[in-house]
Amino acid sequence: MLNRFALFPLFLALSLPTCKKSQNAALSSSSPTPAPTVAVQNTPAPTPAKPVIDQSAEVIVLGYHRFVNKVKRPDTEITPAAFEAQMQELKDKGITVIPMQDFLAWKRGEKSIPPHCAVITIDDGYKSGYEVAWPILKKFGYPVTMFVYTEGIKPGRFSGGESMSWEQLAEMRDAGADIQAHSVTHQDLRKPPYDRLTKRRLSQEEYEPWLENEVAGSKQIIEQKLGVKVNCFAVPYGFYNEHVKELAMKAGYEALFTVYGQKLTYGSPTDSLGRYMIEANKPKVFAEAVSFGGMAVGGSVPVAEVGPSVLSVQPADGETVKNLTPLIKANLVGFGPIDTGSVVMRISGLGVVPAAYDAKTQIVSYQVPRKLSGKSCTVIIEAKSGTKKVATHWTFNLAADALKPEESPASPTISPRPKK
Ligand SMILES: [Zn+2]
Repeated sequence: MLNRFALFPLFLALSLPTCKKSQNAALSSSSPTPAPTVAVQNTPAPTPAKPVIDQSAEVIVLGYHRFVNKVKRPDTEITPAAFEAQMQELKDKGITVIPMQDFLAWKRGEKSIPPHCAVITIDDGYKSGYEVAWPILKKFGYPVTMFVYTEGIKPGRFSGGESMSWEQLAEMRDAGADIQAHSVTHQDLRKPPYDRLTKRRLSQEEYEPWLENEVAGSKQIIEQKLGVKVNCFAVPYGFYNEHVKELAMKAGYEALFTVYGQKLTYGSPTDSLGRYMIEANKPKVFAEAVSFGGMAVGGSVPVAEVGPSVLSVQPADGETVKNLTPLIKANLVGFGPIDTGSVVMRISGLGVVPAAYDAKTQIVSYQVPRKLSGKSCTVIIEAKSGTKKVATHWTFNLAADALKPEESPASPTISPRPKK
């Protein structure tokens, strides 16, 4: 309802001048223009300048699933009492719960938000979201975003006694809830799935149209069933790759959400926004979220450390080199698929270096331009692989006889490491 009212003045503003124009044109050819019967107010043009927004604000997105009194699956369940206590804690800590659409408007530079905000999301479409969580949220006056997978909503193929219905979603929509997409059948989107109906794995040929339907189709279904605009996609299980991301952006989504908790900032890329998934047996996740601590964006993402031996690093781990301007190289195939532009190489004493990364071969390389100094050199490489952060580090030694005083330091800012 709110939306319709909000749109009405805009519709008037857009349509009236056109109507008046055609009316005038029709009238002028036949009879003198009568005094207009409707006073058309000249709406001043909207100010082109964007509002001054606080780019330093920070946002956490909380993700929930089910609300039950007796927790049996602590990875996706929470008691109503614990949920209510968390909602109270947001209030007590002065964290403003904002609608998802306000968060996105802020990211677009169109709307200001308070310094510390939270967005509440509930996944999958369990009826406890409607029956238990929603009344609590209403009590606090908090907005909510529901990420639903369409076949999990009654009477969908994978819906059951615990599922919400489209009628309940419509009721929530009318009360201001934001309904967003979470695929059609809730499966790992990165590979051809096992089809639960035909009881076989889909072929690569069948995969593309299937994926398209999961990503773009789920958006269309929700938009058609509820008459809303769907602009957010939460990938099932947080699993995605570049292809899934591309498809989602092509399908018209504005934001893609994963499950790795991250403090979000104005600059956080909207195609992979982390959420803090709240689990009954991990109270630290909520505590970490509301502390707004840690580094922004990737700071709290768990890092998977990959051993240098599987990456064919050069110079090798523990190797002693005589050439003090070595070519440093690693084959990152062992990292798995890597997000474009996410590879960062750091070298002890130099910091981040402009390493070259070949996306085809996944080889990252850096030609050291000036002589390295010290007894050893440590290389750290980090990259984002889907929802994870992967890293490796290794150390090679610099030959002692190559370290004659006149050959070091390599750079005036680097001092040789003390002997250990
Ligand atoms: Zn889910």
